[in-house]
Amino acid sequence: MATIDSTNFNGKKVIVRVDFNVPLDDNGNITDDTRMRGALPTLNKIHEDGGKLIIMSHMGRPKKNPDPKFSLKQIVPHLSELMGTEVQFADDCQKAQAQVAALKDGDVLVLENLRFYEEETGKPRGEFATDEEKAAAKKALKPKQQAFTKTLADYAEYYVNDAFGTAHRKHASTAIIADFFDKDHKMFGYLMEKEIAAVNKVMKDIKRPFVAIMGGSKVSTKIEIIENLLTKVDYLILTGGMTYTFMKAAGGTVGNSICENDFLDLADRIVKEAKEKGVELVLAEDSVVADAFSNDAHTQITPSKAIPDGWEGLDIGPKSREKFAAVIKKGKTILWNGPAGVFEMDNFTAGSRALGDAVVEATKNGAYSLIGGGDTVACVNKFGMADKVSYVSTGGGALLEAIEGKTLPGIAAITGEE
Ligand code: AMP
Repeated sequence: MATIDSTNFNGKKVIVRVDFNVPLDDNGNITDDTRMRGALPTLNKIHEDGGKLIIMSHMGRPKKNPDPKFSLKQIVPHLSELMGTEVQFADDCQKAQAQVAALKDGDVLVLENLRFYEEETGKPRGEFATDEEKAAAKKALKPKQQAFTKTLADYAEYYVNDAFGTAHRKHASTAIIADFFDKDHKMFGYLMEKEIAAVNKVMKDIKRPFVAIMGGSKVSTKIEIIENLLTKVDYLILTGGMTYTFMKAAGGTVGNSICENDFLDLADRIVKEAKEKGVELVLAEDSVVADAFSNDAHTQITPSKAIPDGWEGLDIGPKSREKFAAVIKKGKTILWNGPAGVFEMDNFTAGSRALGDAVVEATKNGAYSLIGGGDTVACVNKFGMADKVSYVSTGGGALLEAIEGKTLPGIAAITGEE
């Protein structure tokens, strides 16, 4: 397999899939350029080699073509600034042939938002009366998707995928396009390489003990991850809102806490499975409970399994913070996804902060720590801990699917694995 480091792109046309799906304010200003910065090492390498760089990405979920609110033209000035070079723009990703042909060595061209075309995702637009109609429209879109992909592939001699954030999607630009390039002409960018290495450290090359922390609001959305982690970890801390589904399943009372009554059996099954597999399941024995879902609510500390009527658990309590921290510090491999409480409100951040502190300390003592998922990354940034852990993943959904044990289409398309 080719690698970006061992390839000299001088004089070559290179099409790179990046994730420039950055948040914009109402005036089209970028409010967080993390994703753009993430792709810079790859873009700079190709540019500095003297390659003819063609950059493609999606932005948002446009419903028509064109849809100016989602135009990638808005990111061009900032990309120019970041790369320190002029960046050209093609205002239709399918009609850039003349601009591509005119590129000189070291030139940079950004293509308009790929998702202006329904061919990018392969999901037909519009309303369908029946599932059959929708399936037929999807089938009819297939050959068009192939032609759309070929147009993109024909622009370049090399394909580089550096968009980990969309690696779990089998879209034209993230996976299908790779079939148009042989193994010496397609490769991962630096960001993808880093993300894949990070996933391997928690899925394959595991140093023990392995402690996984899964938090967030619901257990139902994390079932597959929990199931897969139970086959790998030594300790599994389940925290956040899902605590209360477990407490109720065990016969506790949870007041107004978030609780998934349809998943009580599932919680029981997870507890049993953990026992069978020798995994130590760790739950919060005490909680910070509030009399309203508000930062200004009255609070008290109660056992998580005995929350009075009219109160709800919004964070883990002090005993749990201590217990979780002690477990985390045993870890040599640590994976953290999902906050321990409603960290968006200042009065309920203490639990997540305690987890973060423990992860930072374990990392200092030689553990490998991977942080992933939008909320957890926001947490770590809020606490200023991002550079004190081993790796903060840029891929929300993609990382979660990788932890579920799935092969990501964007990765398989390059490596050829099934
Ligand atoms: P998820 O999207 O499932 O990863 O959940 C993330 C969200 O879970 C965050 O917005 C937190 O505010 C929320 N969360 C964490 N703990 C609780 C809790 N005890 N009750 C309600 N929401 C919670």
